Parts: sequence; C-alpha cells; structure tokens
Amino acid sequence: MTEPPARRLLLVHAHPDDESINNGATMAKYAAEGARVTLVTCTLGEHGEVIPPELQHLTGAELGEHRLAELTAAMRELGVEDFRLLGGKGRYEDSGMMGIADNDDPSCLWQADVDDAARALVEVVLEVRPQVLVTYDPDGGYGHPDHIQAHRIATRAAELAAEAGWRIPKIYWNRVPRTVADEAFARLQVDLPGLPFGKSATVEDVPGVVDDERITTVIDGTAHAGAKAAAMRAHVTQIEVSPGERYFALSNELAQPLFITEYYELVRGQKAAGTESDLFAGVVIEEAS
Ligand SMILES: [Zn+2]
Repeated sequence: MTEPPARRLLLVHAHPDDESINNGATMAKYAAEGARVTLVTCTLGEHGEVIPPELQHLTGAELGEHRLAELTAAMRELGVEDFRLLGGKGRYEDSGMMGIADNDDPSCLWQADVDDAARALVEVVLEVRPQVLVTYDPDGGYGHPDHIQAHRIATRAAELAAEAGWRIPKIYWNRVPRTVADEAFARLQVDLPGLPFGKSATVEDVPGVVDDERITTVIDGTAHAGAKAAAMRAHVTQIEVSPGERYFALSNELAQPLFITEYYELVRGQKAAGTESDLFAGVVIEEAS
C-alpha cells in the first residue's frame, strides 16, 4: 500500500468555479508535487447565471448537475482527485446574490446552521488532517452570502476539529494585493479593444483585494498557468477565458485579469521569514505512520 501524502491542503469554496479562479494554479502546483489536495465545495451554484445561450435553459438542480460535471472536468485539468460537496450532493443549495428572495430558502447555504454545516466539514478535516486550510475572508471576498457562509463554516470547522484532535496549523484567506490588481487593470484597459468582452470590470469587482502589506504568501503559478486556464474554461456555463489566457469574464461579460500568481494572507499559524512562497512553509510535516 502506498503511504498517504505527507503534505495535505484543504480548500473550502462556495460554488464550482471559485476554486479554479482563486486557487487553480496553487491546486495544480501542489497536486503535481504529490501533496494531497482536497476541495470541499459548499453548493453546486444552482442560481448561477449561464453564459452560453445554448445552455441557458439549465436552471436549478439541472444546472447544479451540469456544474458538477464542469467541476469534475476542472479537477481533471488541475490533477486534483479529492473533491467533495459539503454534506454530500444536494445538502446545501446556492443562496443567490445578497438581497434576493432565494436567500430565504430553507435549503440554501445562507440559511444553514453554521455549526451543523461545520460538523460536516469537521468529518473531512479529521479524515484528511490538513496542515493548511484556504478559504475566504469574513466578507467572503466580496459579500456573496455563500462566500460569507463558506468562511464561517470553514472557520468554525477549524475550531471544532481542534477540539476533536486535529488543529490545522495554518489558515489562509484568498487575497489579491492592491498594486497587483491596479497594474493588471491598467494593462487591461490597453488590451481591451482586442478582447472578446465589451467592457472592463473594476478593481472593486475582484474579491479579496487588500493593501499589499497584508499579503504573507505568494504562490508563483507560472508552471501551472495552462492548467489553471483550462480548469477555468471547464466551467463553461460560468467563465469565458480570453484568447491568450490573460483575462476572463463571468456572466456579466466584464473583462478582468486572470491571475497566474496567487496571493494569500496567513491568519492563523506561524509565518515563515519574509514573504512565503509555500503555503506549507515552516510546517512540521510528520511522515505517515
Ligand atoms: Zn462563488
């Protein structure tokens, strides 16, 4: 029997596509290096808007099923074998954007009891015993109810798992440094006429943008740029990637930069000296027994 990987990374996301946009290069890198990469997605994004006209008939559970297939294809591109749905398929549904009536649906993630949902995640934590957890900041990066809830569930699960015997050494939030975002949008204005998107998004549309000094960790995804773009493309209903793979658009058709370097803020655990270039930096990796 082969031994389980010594380095184990857990990512918690709200919808299929968030993982590839935020962490695609990071996931591909660690999977390629032989680390165990586990993705827990909280909902199937049943209320996402669909880009291709020929697929716009898909809604609700049917769309969720389709997005699960997209997620499966994306994980193949990233080399990630372990991806799961929080509490099992269909347990929590997409809550839709903040303020709409779907937020009140008792089956949606926004209405979920955080402790209940966290317990479903604790099972995964205790099984995988990750040294690193990646999720969103308390605002979910940009205020989407499912992203806010994913943050709360991941944070609570880390607490409960610690009580149950596995304290995750390092917890990170997804980030983009403000100067990097500003420069990328300046470049985008120049490139926009050559792109298949009508208009540009703004820095405010990018989740997790913060002042540069908050960035603790930079993952150079250059070697995995192609895998990240391919994973994003696999989310056919949600993402359109530009030729050249430097930009993408969501269903709002506003162009935004596709970041190959991915950025993080360490919020729990000991930061290694300087700017970290490895999420596992400084973690004592016990060999599998
Ligand atoms: Zn999302």
